[in-house]
Amino acid sequence: MYARLFGTDGVRGVVNENLNPEFIVRLAQAIGTYFQQGSRLLVGRDARAGNEYIVRLVEGCLIAAGHKVFDAGELPTPALQYNIRNRGFDGGVMVTASHNPPQYSGLKVVMADGVEAPREVEEEIEKIFWETRFRRVKWFMLQRGFHVISDARDFYVNGILEKVDVEKIRSRGFRVVADCANNVGALTTPYLLRKLGVKVMSVNSHLSPIPYREPEPVPENLRDTAAIVRDLNFDLGVAHDGDADRAIFIDDRGRVIPGDRSATLLCRHLVVNRGEREPARVVTAVSSSTVIEDVLRELGIEVVWTKVGSVGIARKMMKIGAIAGFEENGGFMYPPHQYVRDGGMSLALMLELLATEKVKLSELVDALPKAYLIKTKVPISSREEAERAVEEVRKRFRNIRQINIDGVKGIGDDFWFLVRPSGTEPLLRIFVEARSEEKAKELLDEIMRVVKEVLKK
Ligand code: MG
Repeated sequence: MYARLFGTDGVRGVVNENLNPEFIVRLAQAIGTYFQQGSRLLVGRDARAGNEYIVRLVEGCLIAAGHKVFDAGELPTPALQYNIRNRGFDGGVMVTASHNPPQYSGLKVVMADGVEAPREVEEEIEKIFWETRFRRVKWFMLQRGFHVISDARDFYVNGILEKVDVEKIRSRGFRVVADCANNVGALTTPYLLRKLGVKVMSVNSHLSPIPYREPEPVPENLRDTAAIVRDLNFDLGVAHDGDADRAIFIDDRGRVIPGDRSATLLCRHLVVNRGEREPARVVTAVSSSTVIEDVLRELGIEVVWTKVGSVGIARKMMKIGAIAGFEENGGFMYPPHQYVRDGGMSLALMLELLATEKVKLSELVDALPKAYLIKTKVPISSREEAERAVEEVRKRFRNIRQINIDGVKGIGDDFWFLVRPSGTEPLLRIFVEARSEEKAKELLDEIMRVVKEVLKK
């Protein structure tokens, strides 16, 4: 067994510390060696500090390994993925650290189908990395010239516009605030919105390695943007993470809508307004609210639960078929477009929903079943301890429905909870959701009693 380099979504590190030139060259050579010699690979990057040099090291190493390398410039991760899948590339690399703080960057490997590499591929790359078995082709096999794909962003935006009713959206003359986290969403989202006849106010939308706000689109980072949406009477706001595969919505009242709620609205839109009923499934991770089940059950759509992690959701959807898939953090996947999280596509569908139903986003959100969510975490000393705690929670709640694929998700009539060991840190993550704050706190207390009992031993 080799030490792991890839986290839940790519290799990440602090630029010029652990993500330094030597490490990048070694990793990029391993990636180059993994792909079959002579592959056509597309490389893109977000606007983080250091990415200009990282992308050049990566491209150089891929050329040395005998590939034909194409550069897509700065663009969102889903834009790179859409180009790879639809323009006959054999794969590619995205240089990004997604929602991580600004000092981070990273490498994401993308396969020919546009989806991030599955774990088996990552393991193969790790093995090549640690064994330093790098392929370097003969001098006369090396690529000559440098290939730039200059229309990758347009190609992606046009792909989105083909999937929605542009005229219907245009007729509404929406006003939208786009918060692009000072990163590559700013290169596509305002442009997409203008094509949809939307009056756009862009905030945090100049490219900067030192962003105005932290890249993760969570309520505490979106206070200013939410205030603009509310105080200047916009129809809605959209906020991306660094590489714009996530879209978090802010309603006309300035409320930041949790990603599983907006995804529930989008899924219902696909079924009710677009008539997309087959295959009658939606895939999401156990960390999402059961509100999705409450809403889709009466429409005859089944919810398939997976482990936490977008790649697992995507691969599951490809295997069993689904009308959509999502994560609770704002990642939404629409298969007719592509099997990856896509902030731009989610935004276009949200506008189509509002244009079709002619209602405010706040009204749609208020019509969803009410629930109060608490998220917390407990430090643990070992994986075994975490497993024991999970097992005790399972026993304590053995009389209710449970999903045991990633920790334990317990589902009662008017509440649910999730207790799972973090995949990246020595922590036990606990989510509790109930119809009232009081009930949620009661439930959390009960779970904490069980967990603390285990941790004491
Ligand atoms: Mg991201």
